[in-house]
Amino acid sequence: MARFPVTYTTAPKAKPTDPDHLGFGKLFTDHMFLMDYKTGKGWHNGRIVPFDNLSLSPAAMCFHYGQTVFEGMKAYYGKDGNVRLFRPEENFKRLNASNKRLCIPAIDEELCVEAVKELVEVDKAWLPRKEGTSLYIRPFIIATDPMLGVKPGDEYLFIIIISPSGAYYASGLAPVKIYVEDNYVRAVRGGTGAAKTGGNYAASLAAQDEAHNQGYSQVLWMDGVEHKYIEEVGAMNVFFVVDGEVLTPMLSGSILPGITRKSSIELLKKWGLPVSERRITMEELSEANKAGKLQEAFGTGTAAVVSPIGELKWEGEILTFNNGEIGPITQKLYDTMTGIQYGDLPDEMGWVVKVCPAD
Ligand SMILES: *Cc1c(COP(=O)(O)O)cnc(C)c1O
Repeated sequence: MARFPVTYTTAPKAKPTDPDHLGFGKLFTDHMFLMDYKTGKGWHNGRIVPFDNLSLSPAAMCFHYGQTVFEGMKAYYGKDGNVRLFRPEENFKRLNASNKRLCIPAIDEELCVEAVKELVEVDKAWLPRKEGTSLYIRPFIIATDPMLGVKPGDEYLFIIIISPSGAYYASGLAPVKIYVEDNYVRAVRGGTGAAKTGGNYAASLAAQDEAHNQGYSQVLWMDGVEHKYIEEVGAMNVFFVVDGEVLTPMLSGSILPGITRKSSIELLKKWGLPVSERRITMEELSEANKAGKLQEAFGTGTAAVVSPIGELKWEGEILTFNNGEIGPITQKLYDTMTGIQYGDLPDEMGWVVKVCPAD
């Protein structure tokens, strides 16, 4: 490797010692990756430098009109002693899809994977080893031109930061309660729902807040045009098991195409389960519930991997899945996905990328 110049920190921070209190996204490693873009010059000057604050003009475009995109991925401590990534090339394929929607210049996907590998190797001593822990990796791009006109930028910064993160489930896989959102929408057809861009999350906060106040952990978004078709949950895609069939909303252009979603579909199909990507309505789930055919529900995303859903509140109705307990397909999927990521199971799908030995 060693494709990028590295400036090592002269003031390394104290590493966390208690893997049970890492939380999520609060601590950062000693280094970060930076790369610049300028129209006419392209992406250039990729480098690893000490983690530090940025210096940007208050007029920098990203602050005003939200021309930003990001990714989320993890590095895992594998049972074989190697540091591993899960399908990193998929993240940068998606980053470029987001770039296209946000008028941000395309970036070399292989070079991005190299940058992640090299940065993770530089900071590998930060990788926690306890079961369920990981390094959360956040690549992102911001428009930095110091200028207030509304137009695509001519200058960008690509940044990768890394945060040691704790096990998502401190005490086992606990099913969550979800509020079916009947007022706000997250994305509309033709909008930016399929892009991982900051504005989508800013727009989701009010609904999230109201759901929290009512005792629900997340909201289930309905489509923005008819308020009828199920889209996704917070930062997770959603699946239902109805009468032995696995259902998930088809990628309509307003749903984020999750890599965990894609991997889950591939595994479920490999196991011979019928999987259908199509439009799903709450009416349909309610009918299935009354007929006793509503079996399981779960969300998928890099942070939680697979998150069982115990209950949905929809208008006046409560739909309960598997008596509020994790169902067998949800459990098997969680065990298999995490097994592959941490190297407890053979990587039959060729999803794992080894970075370096952890020691
Ligand atoms: C990132 C994200 C997901 C999950 O994608 P993964 O690639 O599986 O992590 C789902 N929905 C939204 C809105 C997201 O931002």
